[in-house]
Amino acid sequence: MANAKISFHGAAGEVTGSRHLLETDKGSLLLDCGMFQGHRSDAQAKNRNFAFPPASVDAVLLSHAHIDHCGLLPSLYRDGCDGPLYATPGTAEIAGIMLADSARLQEGDARFFNKIHAAEKLTIEPLYTEEDAKKALAHLKTVGYGETFSPLPGVKASLLNSGHVLGSAMVQLDVDTAGGGRRLLYTGDLGRREGLLMETPASPQKVDYLVIESTYGGRTHEKLADAGEKLAEVIRRAVKTGAKVVIPSFALERTQEIVFILDRLFREKAAPEIPVYVDSPMAVSLTEIFNKHRDDFSFDDKFEAYAKMDGDPFGFDYIRYLRTKDESQALNNKKGPMLIISASGMCEGGRVLHHLRNNISGPENIVLLVGYQAQGTLGRRLQDGQKLVKIFGMEHQVAASIETMHVFSSHADHNDLVAFVKAAKPARGVFLVHGDPEARAALAAALAKEGVRNVKSPALGEEFELN
Ligand SMILES: [Zn+2]
Repeated sequence: MANAKISFHGAAGEVTGSRHLLETDKGSLLLDCGMFQGHRSDAQAKNRNFAFPPASVDAVLLSHAHIDHCGLLPSLYRDGCDGPLYATPGTAEIAGIMLADSARLQEGDARFFNKIHAAEKLTIEPLYTEEDAKKALAHLKTVGYGETFSPLPGVKASLLNSGHVLGSAMVQLDVDTAGGGRRLLYTGDLGRREGLLMETPASPQKVDYLVIESTYGGRTHEKLADAGEKLAEVIRRAVKTGAKVVIPSFALERTQEIVFILDRLFREKAAPEIPVYVDSPMAVSLTEIFNKHRDDFSFDDKFEAYAKMDGDPFGFDYIRYLRTKDESQALNNKKGPMLIISASGMCEGGRVLHHLRNNISGPENIVLLVGYQAQGTLGRRLQDGQKLVKIFGMEHQVAASIETMHVFSSHADHNDLVAFVKAAKPARGVFLVHGDPEARAALAAALAKEGVRNVKSPALGEEFELN
């Protein structure tokens, strides 16, 4: 019998940088190895140092391929970790694309910083390189949902569908502790009960300790069923005025959701068919993965039925998926109506900036925001109604109509989270992670009201005995 403890080294009182460490007498398991995203100086400090020696980590269990969950794997493996990296086949494939892209961004950022600070002889190293990312990915060991494996003596693990994004998983660990066998469940990011593409999250049983995300504590989502009608309405308006509709979108999941809704609208003739361009090399690669694995990954039943009937649910026959810069730039000379779906989702980088620069001053045009816009981002400034914005250092008048759809989210909302905890019946304790302080407090209060005991909101670095 071993002592066991868990400690929290990220996503403790915030929504970024998920890293949780389980230690027993036999060794250590790291649950996710996410990057901190945020203001440069703060993020740099948090991303350049691990609170534990990377070489002491015997294995990593990865919940999903979002950068705030997997983005520091290249640093971890470069700095000494040599253990297996367990993930589902979907996560493994997507992580390859996400980490290569992240490495290129880091290298580009460092080059840019060094160039503008050349006179002062200030230089920084990239956080990691594409080579580091490749080395980390070489440790991947894929496991399907529900398969049992032992990442450490005295620990049995399995990955369960979390319904958040393609390949996403909860990590279930049965751990020998001094007090006996204990089941710890880490949700990773939890999907909605009513999703669009992904299956409903699994419902684990006999849980002792639950580590659960709390992003949407205190907040509920609008119904996804209304998304089609709103998009159809925007398209009808665009046809009337010849508008170019720019949709800044996350490359993973959101782009595929929008494209799928459009496919259904056009097929059912619920909206006039206008040209649609997906202009983001990463979104194109990811959509191809979605399409390729339509039969072997866990999609929602309703989506699967539709995909069987349609055969082309992401519209590869008529939606233009653009990879090259020339194809992207050619859109500037084309007349509307058209929809341009492009990353990044908060307008912080990527090709969407070019489309905004070219179209934002046209009063007939529409910018349709379909995701959360964090404070300090260009997306948020547009959403807040600023009439003059800087893009690539140049000021632009905002004359286009700026609109937001609030229905999309790949996270469980407040009611989904409470229902999940009630079903899991955690016997010994609940740890709330991956939520801003207000969200976490709202979820903690709701769980207390439901009679759930031992609900903790760990601080960064805090550790707890499991017994
Ligand atoms: Zn996520």
